[in-house]
Amino acid sequence: MKKLALHWKILIGMVLGIIFGFVMNSVDGGKDFVTDWIKPFGTIFINLLKLIAVPLILASLIKGISDLKDISKIKKMGLRTMVIYMMTTLVAIIIGLGIVNVVKPGAGMSQDTIEKIKVKYETSSGVVDKLTKASAQNDAGPLQALVDIFPSNIFTSLGDAKMLQIIFFALFVGISLLLIPEKKAKPLMNFFDSLNEVVMKMVDLIMLFAPYAVFALLANVIIAFDDTEILLKLLVYALCVVGGLVLMIGFYLLLISVYTKKSPIWFLKQISPAQLLAFSTSSSAATLPVTMERVEEHLGVDKEVSGFVLPVGATINMDGTSLYQAIAAVFIMQVIWPEGLTFSNQLIIVATALLASIGSAAVPSAGMVMLVIVLESIGFPAELLPIGLALIFAVDRPLDMCRTTVNVTGDATVSMIVAKSLDKLHDPKPKNWDDNYDAV
Ligand code: ASP
Repeated sequence: MKKLALHWKILIGMVLGIIFGFVMNSVDGGKDFVTDWIKPFGTIFINLLKLIAVPLILASLIKGISDLKDISKIKKMGLRTMVIYMMTTLVAIIIGLGIVNVVKPGAGMSQDTIEKIKVKYETSSGVVDKLTKASAQNDAGPLQALVDIFPSNIFTSLGDAKMLQIIFFALFVGISLLLIPEKKAKPLMNFFDSLNEVVMKMVDLIMLFAPYAVFALLANVIIAFDDTEILLKLLVYALCVVGGLVLMIGFYLLLISVYTKKSPIWFLKQISPAQLLAFSTSSSAATLPVTMERVEEHLGVDKEVSGFVLPVGATINMDGTSLYQAIAAVFIMQVIWPEGLTFSNQLIIVATALLASIGSAAVPSAGMVMLVIVLESIGFPAELLPIGLALIFAVDRPLDMCRTTVNVTGDATVSMIVAKSLDKLHDPKPKNWDDNYDAV
C-alpha cells in the first residue's frame, strides 16, 4: 500500500466508498451509521484543507508577486491570465449551449414526470427555497460586486474567507513590497516565503489522510440517493453535462499539447490527485492547496506564476460551472418554459453564465445558487423557479463533483499556458508525492 502512487490510493478509497455507500443504503440503519460515524472524517479532511487555504493564498500570492521584482511583469501576467480565463470560460459556455440545443434533453418530458417533480418540491425540505433566497440577496446596486472586492478590514475578510478580498490585499501588499527598498522588504518577504513552505508541507501531511477521507465523502454522497426514478429521467441531461465537461477536458489537453508541447497523458497523470480531490470534495477552494502543490512540484510551473494564477482561478475561473449553468438553464426552459427559448435569451445566457461563474463561490452547490441569476436575467417566471431547481436538484451533487474537477483542471491548464508564455515553465524536479510520503 505504501508503494502505491497517491492517485491510485485515492481512487481505491473512492471506489470502496461508493460500494460501502450502496451497501449501507440497503442495510437497516446503514444511512445513520454513515452519517454518524463515517461522514465526520470527510468533514475533518475538508476542514483541514480549508484551514490552510487562506494562509496559503496570502503567503503564495505575496511571495509570488514580490518575487516578480517588476511591476510591468505583474501587469503582463495579470492581463494574460484574465484574458485566457475569459476565453476558456466562453469556450465552455459555447460547448454547453451547443450540446443542449442539439440533444434537447428537456424536450418532450412527460407531464407526469413534471407533476412528480412538483410534488417532490412541495414535500422537499425547503432546500430549494433556501437556494432561491440565497441568490435573492444579490439585488444590490450594479457595482456592488466591484465594491465587494475591496475590504475595509482584512481580519474580517480572512475570518470569512472572502477570497477576492484576500487576493486584493495580497496583491496590494506584494506590490507595495516591491516599491520599498529591498533591505526593508526582505524580512517580510522571508516571513511569507517561510509561511508558504510550511503550508505546503501541511498539504503533504493532510494528503496522507486523503484516501480515507474520500472513502468517507463518497459513502456519504451515495446514501443521499434513493430516488432512482427521477434520477433516470434526468440521465440524459446529466450525460449532456458530463459529455460537455469531457469535451472541455479535451480542449485543455489540446491547449497543453499544442502550446506547451507537453504530453497530455503526462499532464493528466501529474494533476490527477487534485482532480480526484476536486471530485470528492466538490470544492475548488478546498482543493486549492493540492492544486498548487501539483502544479508547482509536478507540472513545473514557477511559484511566481502559480502563486497568482491558481488562487485567482479557483475564485473566478469556473469553466465547468459555466458550462453546467448554460446546459441547466436551457434544459429547465425546455421542460417548463419552452416559449422562453429564443436566440436572444441564449445570448444573454452566454453573458450571465460568464458572470455567474465568476461570482460563484468555490464551494459545493455554488453553481446551482448562481444559476438562479442566470434564469432571472432572461425573465424566467419567478413562480416556476423553485420547480426548475427542484427538477435538477436530484442530480446536482454528482454534476457538481464533475464540474469542480473541470474547474480545477482549467486553472492548472491556464497556469501552464501563462507560465509558458512568460518563460516560467521548467522541467519539474523528480520529487514526487510518494517521496514526501516516505519522508514523513
Ligand atoms: N463546486 C464548484 C467549485 O467549487 C462550484 C459550483 O458549484 O459549480 O468549483
